[in-house]
Amino acid sequence: MNEKYKSVTEIFGANVFNDSVMRERLPKEVYKSIKKTIEGHQDLDPALASVIANAMKDWAIEKGATHFCHWFQPMTGLTAEKHDSFISPTSDGRTMMEFSGKELFQGEPDASSFPSGGLRATFEARGYTAWDCTSPVFVKEDGENITLYIPSAFCSYTGQALDKKTPLLKSMNALNKQAMRVLKALGNTTSRRVVSTLGAEQEYFLIDRSFFEKRLDLVMTGRTLFGAMSPRGQEMEDHYFGTLHERVASFMHEVNIELWKLGVSAKTQHNEVAPAQYELAPVFATVNVATDHNQLSMEILQKVANRHDFVCLLNEKPFAGVNGSGKHNNWSMSTDDGINLLDPGKTPHDNMVFLVMLCSVIRAVDKYSKLLRASVANSGNEHRLGANEAPPAIVSIFLGTQLTDIIEQLAKGNATSSKQGGELKLGVSSLPPLPKDCTDRNRTSPFAFTGNKFEFRMVGSSQSTGGPMFVLNTIVADVLAEVADELEKAKDVKVTAQKMLSRIATEHSRIIFNGDNYTDEWVKEAQKRKLPNIPDTIGSLETVMVKEHIDVFERQEVLTKAELGARTEILIETYVRQKNIEALTMLNIAKRQILPAAIEYSMILANTVESISAVEVCADAQKDMLKTVSCLIGSANEAVKKLEAGVKKAADIHEVLEKAECFRDTAIPAMNELRKSCDALELNVKADLWPLPTYAEMLFLR
Ligand code: ADP
Ligand code: MG
Repeated sequence: MNEKYKSVTEIFGANVFNDSVMRERLPKEVYKSIKKTIEGHQDLDPALASVIANAMKDWAIEKGATHFCHWFQPMTGLTAEKHDSFISPTSDGRTMMEFSGKELFQGEPDASSFPSGGLRATFEARGYTAWDCTSPVFVKEDGENITLYIPSAFCSYTGQALDKKTPLLKSMNALNKQAMRVLKALGNTTSRRVVSTLGAEQEYFLIDRSFFEKRLDLVMTGRTLFGAMSPRGQEMEDHYFGTLHERVASFMHEVNIELWKLGVSAKTQHNEVAPAQYELAPVFATVNVATDHNQLSMEILQKVANRHDFVCLLNEKPFAGVNGSGKHNNWSMSTDDGINLLDPGKTPHDNMVFLVMLCSVIRAVDKYSKLLRASVANSGNEHRLGANEAPPAIVSIFLGTQLTDIIEQLAKGNATSSKQGGELKLGVSSLPPLPKDCTDRNRTSPFAFTGNKFEFRMVGSSQSTGGPMFVLNTIVADVLAEVADELEKAKDVKVTAQKMLSRIATEHSRIIFNGDNYTDEWVKEAQKRKLPNIPDTIGSLETVMVKEHIDVFERQEVLTKAELGARTEILIETYVRQKNIEALTMLNIAKRQILPAAIEYSMILANTVESISAVEVCADAQKDMLKTVSCLIGSANEAVKKLEAGVKKAADIHEVLEKAECFRDTAIPAMNELRKSCDALELNVKADLWPLPTYAEMLFLR
């Protein structure tokens, strides 16, 4: 199959068992029934299983598939799959191709090797996967292997969620339920369902594979643990939106084709701010489908990069000193009859539904800002939040001129007007007049209103969008529940709603900040406003298990206390393991590559000093250089010893939180010291002796 000569419309969704395929291949009644389930209007009917499974199997086999798999998202944040072939041997020594309804509905992977945070002991191996019919089944080609993929939820034998999808689906239900109550109370009689939507912009770095292979740190940890800054970074501001390099453009083209086949609507692509950094954005979908699609996008980016002799780095901070990568989560809520609940319209001040939704989001974000912060806490993001372009670790909301004005009016009582944008004339008669938005944008805000949606920018580039999105859905659902309680009881809904908006606008104004989030003034101002600022991962994860947070997840039936606790523990454990790998990798590189190279160079210098002095010529300069190098070798060696001691100390601690704190307080400072000395050595050692590809090579050569 040569995709080159096919049109995009032919390619798009070609490998997806989507609505049109279902309509074509399923008996009418079965199609109608499953469609109702997908749209949330009825429970999944087990009686349909075998008919649907059979249709899927025939379709997949026509596409060349030999296997099927339940595709799920364990707490590692990655995806998992176990393939089974369709073959079913017959008594006459031949085989049939079979796929039963039970196999579609339920899988039973051995769950013992996935993180469970103590929800199960290792010997309790049983876990279940269950088909999620709201995210379409697809066929994926990996090399010569073609497999039918069944998006699935994953739970333990006792029914506790062990994945990212289950709470996400539950949070969508919660949001639907509470938002519908609010809409009804406000007089909406047409909508039947509210879904949360997500468009996840994905940032990534691409470097040449040959450099990657020579760096144990990239191979082991996905980020550079050493590396002096290149003489040139991103200060020329010439990479953002710059012309695509041909090799990169070809890579992007192939990524798009692969994603389109899988029904992922890859739409936007461009150079990002840092050299060698890029972005991919799809058209938005429901948060569930968008989360699956984002997982596929990360996988395809990495696979296709390999084919082009690139490596795609998804770590949040692969290079110190230039921007890190995030995943901007554009989020909104919309009804089945097409109303975007965060669309302000032309005159937002008299758009009651919009104002109620907006104020509910504001209250949720302020009330649960620590949970939102924790939902993006991982070891990579620790280096990104607060550095360079990244949003700081302080959660605040950007609303822009128009909405801030309305919120200020509300705080005083009533909103009676909306500032308008007008028209922008460029003063050249051949250029069109541009309708001007009523608000500028703000790239520095961690949670920004962008016209008809919010953009949560703290999410890390390697993370599943599932975590942050189920947190956001849950906290907004919970505030909407309060709002609905109040409105349903109201004698005069309009008066009650207005009072409520006024109250929220007053109580939560502290979370709104339209200025530059990257300044020290904001950090001070935020402190005055008592907004939490938690830059480190462990500090952030430690805030999760408090009554308020447990209650909100239990009230909205998204996670039980035990499930929330298990998740938090897994995140802390993962952090510790990643830091341990980073520490060991640093020791390995320092002791086996950097120090030997530096020692070799110091020998060259020493011999030089000796030879030159022997013929009675001044060798002071060479001596100076030798002193510098020798001194740095000394400080690097000291740091090695400190780090070894730190790692050992952490290894002897059993309690995971204590271990994490030991890393934070002992090993990480030693890692920073070691890097500092080694990076200084890099700038003082003969280039052809240096064992690692440099920042300049990795960021600028392609
Ligand atoms: P940027 O912020 O970089 O200008 P775009 O305007 O290209 O980004 O849009 C960013 C993302 O927002 C896209 O994935 C787009 O589909 C998504 N988006 C647009 N409307 C909504 C919505 N109602 N809900 C969720 N995502 C949306
Ligand atoms: Mg954006």
